[in-house]
Amino acid sequence: MRFGRLKEVGYTRAMTENEQNTARDSAPIAKRRSREKRTISQMVALYCAGNHPAEERTETAFCGEPVCPACKAVDDYSVTRTERCRQMAAKTSCDQCPYHCYRPNEREQIRAVMRYAGPRMITKHPVAAFRHLLGR
Ligand SMILES: [Zn+2]
Repeated sequence: MRFGRLKEVGYTRAMTENEQNTARDSAPIAKRRSREKRTISQMVALYCAGNHPAEERTETAFCGEPVCPACKAVDDYSVTRTERCRQMAAKTSCDQCPYHCYRPNEREQIRAVMRYAGPRMITKHPVAAFRHLLGR
């Protein structure tokens, strides 16, 4: 494992490597990656629907649901992190991942989203929620 080294890798270089990782995804990993992007986006949309005024939802999240501009920024960021995640083949959940690829501020935001949307996903998107919990 090379956790120490990875912390020092510059953003530009890490992005390039991750894009290569994405290009090298095997079929099941590519499927998982795209499913995870959708699940995260659905959770952001659920969070927005429950916490922000409806008239502010002028943007469209990755999953196709309406969100406010602030949630759109969280959605874009999270989808991009998932796009570039190098642990897609190995990890079971972001909580257990050693890389901490989210910036601290965005990490807090997505954690708030997860806390709110996690339990609610069971009724709104049960299949995605169970896959997420099982880390599949
Ligand atoms: Zn919002």
